[in-house]
Amino acid sequence: MKNIEQLNFEDKRVIVRVDFNVPLDENYNITDDTRIRAAMPTINKVINDGGMLILMSHLGRPKKNPDEKYSLKHIVNYLGQVIGKEVIFADDCMKAAEKIAAMKAGDVLLLENLRFYAEEEGKVRGIEKEEEGYDEAKKALKESQKEFTKTLASYADYYVNDAFGTAHRAHASTALIADYFDADHKMCGFLMGKEVEAIDKVMKDIKRPFTAIMGGSKVSTKIDIIENLLNKVDNLILCGGMTYTFKKALGGNIGKSICENDKLDLALSLLQEAKDKGVNLVLAEDAVVADNFSNDANTMVVDPMDIPEAYEGMDIGPKTREMFGDVIRSSKTILWNGPCGVFEFDNFANGSRAIAEAIVEATKNGAFSLIGGGDSVACINKFDMANDVSYVSTGGGALLEAIEGKELPGIAKLKD
Ligand code: AMP
Repeated sequence: MKNIEQLNFEDKRVIVRVDFNVPLDENYNITDDTRIRAAMPTINKVINDGGMLILMSHLGRPKKNPDEKYSLKHIVNYLGQVIGKEVIFADDCMKAAEKIAAMKAGDVLLLENLRFYAEEEGKVRGIEKEEEGYDEAKKALKESQKEFTKTLASYADYYVNDAFGTAHRAHASTALIADYFDADHKMCGFLMGKEVEAIDKVMKDIKRPFTAIMGGSKVSTKIDIIENLLNKVDNLILCGGMTYTFKKALGGNIGKSICENDKLDLALSLLQEAKDKGVNLVLAEDAVVADNFSNDANTMVVDPMDIPEAYEGMDIGPKTREMFGDVIRSSKTILWNGPCGVFEFDNFANGSRAIAEAIVEATKNGAFSLIGGGDSVACINKFDMANDVSYVSTGGGALLEAIEGKELPGIAKLKD
C-alpha cells in the first residue's frame, strides 16, 4: 500500500471512495456535514496536486435505480461550496466514462449513489434467501458485480479508500475494486489513515496501563469485543445497562433494571476469564436508580447489588464516578465505547460526563484516548469535549469490528 502523502497525482485520475452518507432533511438540506468535512484533506490533496478527482459514495439504503430520495445530486451544490469549485455530477455511476474522459487537471466529479446498483453490496434484491430462484440470482449477481467493479476501476489510475465507516464491508467500491490496482496504485486516504493509526495504538502499539471502558445497554452485543479486549487490557471497566446482568449473575437484586437473563452464565465466565488473565475488571459499586425511565423520575443512590423492587439502574453513583475516574486518570491508553448511563436524560448523564472528564484529564497528561462507536461519540459531543481527547472515530461498526480483532476488508485489500 502506498502512502498518500508520498504521491503526486498531477494529471492522474484518482477515484476516491468517500463516505458521503450524510443526513438530509425533508428538503434535502444536509443537516450534518461532518462526513464531507472529514474527507476534505484527501480531496484537497488530489486537487492541489493537479489530479482529476472522481468521488464515489453510497447514500442511505436505496432499493431501486434510480431512487430520487437517495440521489447524491442533492449534495452536489453544497459539496461544491465546501470544496470551492464546481462539482461535475455523473447521474449514473456506470455511465460516467465520457464525462471522466473530458475531465481536466483539478476537476472534481461525483458519481451517483453506488447503491442504486445491487452490485455495490452484492445483495440480491426482490427475492428472499429462502425463496426459489435466490441461489441463481445470487450467482448472476456475483458475475455482474465483477463487471460493475471493473467499470469503476476503469475510471482511474489510482484508487484511494477514505471511507472508514464502510471499511468492514467487502463491497465493490470499498474492497473488491482494490484488486484491479497494483500495490503502488492503491492506498488509504488521510481520514482512513488516521483511523488505522488510532486503532493500532489500542490494538498493537499499546502504552500501559491500558484501560477500556465498555458501556451501552447490553452485554450480548459486546461479547466479542470484551473477549478480545481481555487479551489486551490491564483494566476493563464494564458499565451502563450491562452492569445489571453482571450484578444479577453475582446474586444481586437488581429491581427493574435492564438485564439479559440468558447471559448470566456468560457474565460469570467473563468475570472468571478476567481473573485468569490478570485483568482488573471493574464494575460499579453504587448506582443512581429511578422509579421510572424518565428524566424527572424519583431517584436515589444505592448498592447495585441491592436495588429496590420498583427501581431501575440508570447511571453510576458518586463513589463509582470517583473509582472509575481514578482508574482512567492513571492510564496511558484509553478506549471508550458506550455510555455508562442513560446519558440522553440530563439527570442520568453525570456518570458518562465524569468518565469523559477523566479521559480528558488523562489525555492532557499524555495518555492516548480513542472514543468510538455510535453513542460514545454522541456522548462526547454532548459534553463538548471531542477536541480534548486524542481521537474520536468516525466509523461505529468498522471500529467495533476492528476492536473485536477482525481484519477489515476495506483495509486488508489495500495491502494485497
Ligand atoms: P449501545 O447501543 O449498546 O452502545 O447502548 C447505548 C445505550 O445504552 C444508550 O442509549 C444509553 O441510554 C443506554 N444505557 C446506558 N445505561 C443504561 C441503563 N442503565 N439502562 C438502560 N439503558 C442504558
